[in-house]
Amino acid sequence: IKRIGVLTSGGDAPGMNAALRAVVLAAEHYGIETVAFRHGYQGLLDNDHVVLQAKDVLHILQYSGTIIKSARCKRFKDAAAAQEAAANLDALAIDALVIIGGDGSFRGADHLANHWQGKIVGVPGTIDNDLYGTDATIGYATAVNIAMDALDKIRDTADAMDRVFIVEVMGREAGFIGLGSAMAAGAERMILPELQKDKPLTVAALVKHIKRVQEIRGEGSYVMVLSEHQWPGGAVALAEQLEAEHHLPCRPCLLGHIQRGGAPAPADRILASELGVHAIELLLNGEHRVMAGKKANQCVAVPLPDTWQKKNPLDQNLLRIQHEIFNPVKKDRRT
Ligand code: ADP
Repeated sequence: IKRIGVLTSGGDAPGMNAALRAVVLAAEHYGIETVAFRHGYQGLLDNDHVVLQAKDVLHILQYSGTIIKSARCKRFKDAAAAQEAAANLDALAIDALVIIGGDGSFRGADHLANHWQGKIVGVPGTIDNDLYGTDATIGYATAVNIAMDALDKIRDTADAMDRVFIVEVMGREAGFIGLGSAMAAGAERMILPELQKDKPLTVAALVKHIKRVQEIRGEGSYVMVLSEHQWPGGAVALAEQLEAEHHLPCRPCLLGHIQRGGAPAPADRILASELGVHAIELLLNGEHRVMAGKKANQCVAVPLPDTWQKKNPLDQNLLRIQHEIFNPVKKDRRT
């Protein structure tokens, strides 16, 4: 391998820059040149590329976002687009490609592999932590940190006013950010995709829980973490429903894209650095169509389709604990 391509694709994640840095530095270490494509797969189609050297990436690991830009590119799903990308890669004499992104980007990588001879390795960059085969994805730790910090701040005012709050967090179809931030901040209730699938929460059950917690604990504040897409109309609609139908004053708070910015957490910088280097080493070992992951403290290679076809479950013990401590029992019924 003499020359590799690299791109960041899909939703940006804190630590993508750190991963890019590691890829470029590791490649340089092994005498490989790195060509970065800008704006994800769009850059492959537009042939929008730039050669990156160590000096270009040395001091970017402390910033979120991605210096080579990310994007979504609908057209890339067509066979013709993948063929165009393949032709562009061949014209630049690129032997292998590193894709930093989430499950959609990995589907794109697998799609490209059907039309291109070069080797492809993925690096898991998404705040959602929804990729199978790695214990954590790059960006997840930072997103949980940010959500926790917001929940702490909400608690201050919720406490002062004895108020109910609904804080909506990201996560796509997975509850990792919801569970992590709720546990870290001691939220009273979580509405997560995995829980909703088994037993969707009703407003009546929610109101009952709020009243029970407030009565038994003698505490007015109640903070709820709502994963995105888990309530029709989101946190705003749910808050309006609680207030209109049950006279429960309730305030919504949407964290949104704040969860993707600021300084990446140490865990994300370290994981990104490790997996960026691992991706290059996998390529040098002849691996192809795999994601560089980390499982039980080992660097692993995960077949790309596994990353979106299989699912990492939520931590069942955390779910159990959360259920126990936030379902207070009346004094006379305690065992
Ligand atoms: P993420 O990587 O964050 O999950 P997206 O789901 O938005 O992001 O996907 C990023 C890009 O990957 C898409 O805009 C598209 O270019 C490409 N992509 C996603 N799914 C496919 C697919 N099934 N086939 C080919 N390309 C895909």
